[in-house]
Amino acid sequence: GAERSKNVLILMSDTGGGHRASAEAIRDAFRIEFGDEYRIYVKDVWKEYTGWPLNDMERSYKFMVKHVQLWKVAFHSTSPRWIHSSYLAAIASYYAKEVEAGLMEYKPDIIISVHPLMQHIPLSVLKWKGLQKKVIFVTVITDLNTCHPTWFHPRVNRCYCPSKEVAKRALYDGLEESQIQVFGLPIRPSFARAVLSKDDLRKELDLDPDLPAVLLMGGGEGMGPVKKTAMVLGESLYDNDRGKPIGQLIIICGRNKALASTLESLEWKIPVKVRGFETQMEKWMGACDCIITKAGPGTIAEALIRGLPIVLNDYIPGQEKGNVPYVVDNGTGVFTRSPKETARIVSEWFSTKTDELKRMSENALKLAQPEAVFDIVKDIHELACQRGPLANIPYDSTYSLTNVI
Ligand code: UDP
Repeated sequence: GAERSKNVLILMSDTGGGHRASAEAIRDAFRIEFGDEYRIYVKDVWKEYTGWPLNDMERSYKFMVKHVQLWKVAFHSTSPRWIHSSYLAAIASYYAKEVEAGLMEYKPDIIISVHPLMQHIPLSVLKWKGLQKKVIFVTVITDLNTCHPTWFHPRVNRCYCPSKEVAKRALYDGLEESQIQVFGLPIRPSFARAVLSKDDLRKELDLDPDLPAVLLMGGGEGMGPVKKTAMVLGESLYDNDRGKPIGQLIIICGRNKALASTLESLEWKIPVKVRGFETQMEKWMGACDCIITKAGPGTIAEALIRGLPIVLNDYIPGQEKGNVPYVVDNGTGVFTRSPKETARIVSEWFSTKTDELKRMSENALKLAQPEAVFDIVKDIHELACQRGPLANIPYDSTYSLTNVI
């Protein structure tokens, strides 16, 4: 029969900026590698098809990471498998019909989860529907090191781990070696494939052509000590003796509008650019010489690709904690929570310690895995080819969940 394009459903959630960025990276890589062969849907099934607490994850996540102690408790108290699996199973049966409808609407041949809480319920739905042998289900983990065990589900066809550390955890949690692949964190192809010259970018983005530039950010939500750090940097990047700046500062506030407007209202001695949510992060990173950020995996992986030495100034307890040794032990950056210390380090990088900046930049490029997203989609394509040209998935109304349970 004629080849139809295969449907790929990517399950994500807008908690932070990282999951969406990974989902879009995978979508774009599919398009580049395979064109019309795959039709890709990026969906937040929880938000669209369920009630509380699942449809509210974005808000509860934002609330909890703002109240760090709460998040710490939530992360660690849900770690043992027996707690999270019975909790998720209960939610799964409660929302089964809605989630089933949400999943089946897209008639997926392949489901890709880029979220720690999107394994159990969709896989249960597939099992109930008798579709687990037909639909390919893979997980793409987006934490670099200390990830939550809800990421690991024994019934996935593949679990893509961004690092050896995560692969070890997957093995420990019961996945088979054959289910695990380590390619790196999927980063948008615009990062991986772009050939950008710093001079051109600075012109395009209206930055000073010569002054060294530091990028300050805090993930998609503009979290961490951004304001305090900006203010101290504004002083320390100014050479009082010579009466001129030794660097320029670019602050990307993401969706944190209050932060952006506060920073915009301040007076600066050095060139400063304040921006909101940017869609072309590869350009801003390409125009800078180093970055200050909380330990978000997406931002770290992107910075490595651009060869930016990293000052980590914060991390979300639990899943981001392990990103700190990942950066520091690999010689691509430093960790400090003190804005003063951060400012001192950056000023030195721009004056007396340019050799250290250069060495860390080289280490970053060595650690970077710009091809990871392409390796992942090619591997998924392999899995799909093994299933044959037409999966003949019985997506019709006679397979109603209510008949099965
Ligand atoms: N990001 C973006 N525009 C912004 C701020 C952030 O595209 O204005 C992207 C950033 O490039 C990265 C992601 O959002 O890909 C942030 O992910 P990360 O894992 O660093 O942190 P999260 O926001 O998920 O906590």
